[in-house]
Amino acid sequence: MNKSRKKIDLLKEMEKYSHSIEIGRFKLIAINSELEREVQREQFYHELAHILRHAGRQIMMPKAFRELQEWDANNFTRYAALPLHMLREFNLNDDNIIDQLSEEFKVTKGLCEYRLERIYANLINIRK
Ligand SMILES: [Zn+2]
Repeated sequence: MNKSRKKIDLLKEMEKYSHSIEIGRFKLIAINSELEREVQREQFYHELAHILRHAGRQIMMPKAFRELQEWDANNFTRYAALPLHMLREFNLNDDNIIDQLSEEFKVTKGLCEYRLERIYANLINIRK
């Protein structure tokens, strides 16, 4: 396979996955537009976390460090997508709270559920 063919294959592969690239002052976030809008939004926050908070190329780093960055980016996504000060506007005990949050913040129900679980867990820890 020639070099230009390999480059085209690589670009086609990259199109499938959302990713961020940082080269000096040049920063880029690419999102797969074929995904559901809610998933695109979450992946944008994930990639934004990498741009704002992480340095280095993951492909060059040890697995444990890469996993730590992924954990951090996923955690950042939850806080950025559903900021606590905005959640205070909602009745978190409402039976339809997950649907409401998903609709209002345009993120998946799964992300809303996880965020609320973490808030409840923190409240329990505060009360102990
Ligand atoms: Zn990532």
